Amino acid sequence: MLFRELADTYERLEATSSRLEMTDILAEAFRRFEPSEIRMAVYLTQGQLYPDFNPLKLGMADKMILKAIAFASGAGESFVQELMLKEGDPGIVAQKAFQNKKQTTLFSEPLTLRRTYETLEAIARSEGGGSQDLKIKLMSKLLSNASSSEAKFLSRVITGRMRLGVSSMTVLDALAVAFASKEDRDAVERAFNVSSDLGLVAEELALHGLEGVKGIHVKVNRPLRAMLAERMSSPEEILEKMGGTCAFEYKYDGVRLQAHICNGEVRLFSRKLDELTSQFPDVVAGLKRTMRAESAIVEGECVPVDTNTGEFLPFQEVSHRRGRKYGVEEAIEDYPVKLCLFDCILKNGEDLTDRPFLQRREALMSIVEPDDSVTLSEIRVLSSAEEAQAFFQEAIKDGCEGLMAKSIADGSVYRAGNRGFLWIKYKKEYRSEMNDTVDLVVVGAFAGRGKRKGFYGALLMATYDPDADRFETVSKLGSGFDDANLAALLEMLAPDRVPEKHHLVDSRMEADFWFQPRLVLEVRGAEITLSPIHTCSFGSVRPDSGLAIRFPRFTGRFRDDKEGREATTSQELLAMYQAQLKRVE
Ligand code: AMP
Repeated sequence: MLFRELADTYERLEATSSRLEMTDILAEAFRRFEPSEIRMAVYLTQGQLYPDFNPLKLGMADKMILKAIAFASGAGESFVQELMLKEGDPGIVAQKAFQNKKQTTLFSEPLTLRRTYETLEAIARSEGGGSQDLKIKLMSKLLSNASSSEAKFLSRVITGRMRLGVSSMTVLDALAVAFASKEDRDAVERAFNVSSDLGLVAEELALHGLEGVKGIHVKVNRPLRAMLAERMSSPEEILEKMGGTCAFEYKYDGVRLQAHICNGEVRLFSRKLDELTSQFPDVVAGLKRTMRAESAIVEGECVPVDTNTGEFLPFQEVSHRRGRKYGVEEAIEDYPVKLCLFDCILKNGEDLTDRPFLQRREALMSIVEPDDSVTLSEIRVLSSAEEAQAFFQEAIKDGCEGLMAKSIADGSVYRAGNRGFLWIKYKKEYRSEMNDTVDLVVVGAFAGRGKRKGFYGALLMATYDPDADRFETVSKLGSGFDDANLAALLEMLAPDRVPEKHHLVDSRMEADFWFQPRLVLEVRGAEITLSPIHTCSFGSVRPDSGLAIRFPRFTGRFRDDKEGREATTSQELLAMYQAQLKRVE
């Protein structure tokens, strides 16, 4: 098959914005293509050479593509660069440059799809010294045999931006029309969702029809598209939707990981199917320690933890770990994480996607021996809205975003790549951003562990309520202290130690050490939330909650100029909360 046929199809696709027309154009083309070549054609249509999860990408910089265009078309670099400034699309630049090309047909041979694809593969594979020149040379060679339309789409494939408006879903529509029927669309989509590989689905359909795609199953080391959740705003609504009873789990605030385990090897993929194995060697080691299966695919949320307070940290902390090639070891120390597993998709070679949720949970429990770094998500099967609300409060108290409700009905399968009501998220509704620092009083402390052994690991902080003459807790503070601060705190707090909770302190939390409320520290937090465990302005917003400062950090400033009763008041914090309250979607 000639690349020209594909370019002609792209020209027609480009000329329409109607999804229906696109489907027809593609379906007609798919029927014409050789089954052995359809896979390549499908990837190229997406501006790719392989499925998303394959790390090998074409990725040639625009600058290099322009060089190749200038060289192969004879148009001259300055002409090409000027054109690029005007058009902003290497495809149009190539098209125009090649329109003016003086034909030197003597050595040109028509581009076949296979040769084009194999040359593009060679471009993607070349790396190291001299690879840039080689890439430009290979690209120029392709272009020198191209028509202006072919040059346009070759350049676009290489940038990865086809600008055709064809989504994966349109390709699936067209594949179903071309090789099965519209009614079989679901089966075709399912094959894509469990394999994440549009090329594979196309090839199976072209070669073996519907039976072919029905044979596509979840496979270890090939990530599947993640199941997604709908959203609702009350446990009552959720329970009604779920038929009266469902499982509720903590909704952790981190990075979703899909772990593939095979004969002792572990690979990790993100929700977008990027491979993250090398960025989380500690998670890989944790899974090797805790998994008891020859092969498995499990899913969980990777959450950053503060080893001093034992609390979860803002999920952004995990992002320090992503995209790193160097310094991974340091990042592991600075940003320790915990993996909370919540699903099992494959166990010892068996595809579990069609099993109801609780069976998958059982499978998960049967193959994981949890430890400190790899655990199972907190879960409760509940039928009462009050109990669900109480569980929600616990989740918030433990630093989670809210709850995930999961259907436990017979049909509660793992619906890869789908957002539906089998999973419903119930998030914290109220939170308020903090723009200002606050001055909080130290009322208690927790013993340090690890690097902080012998020092305080975290401090229990409070606001002051002048009406009741009480100190009310708002936060556990563990961040922002350097070694000198930690040593200073030991000395500064020594005279304030009291054997038990001071009579002016209101706390629902048990600290290891208690102090007379005197020392004031300046603290910056990310947001003010409701919490059942902190006593600041308790009951003012909701009967069962007080206010809490999330992700507090010591600014470095000891407010020696203030005494305990001059700290930020509970009423002030309530006003700050109300002033910045926003409804979070
Ligand atoms: P959202 O990103 O707000 O749409 O919520 C869905 C995300 O919550 C999922 O993609 C997971 O990354 C995350 N998540 C946290 N805890 C759970 C859990 N127990 N079950 C499923 N997903 C969870």
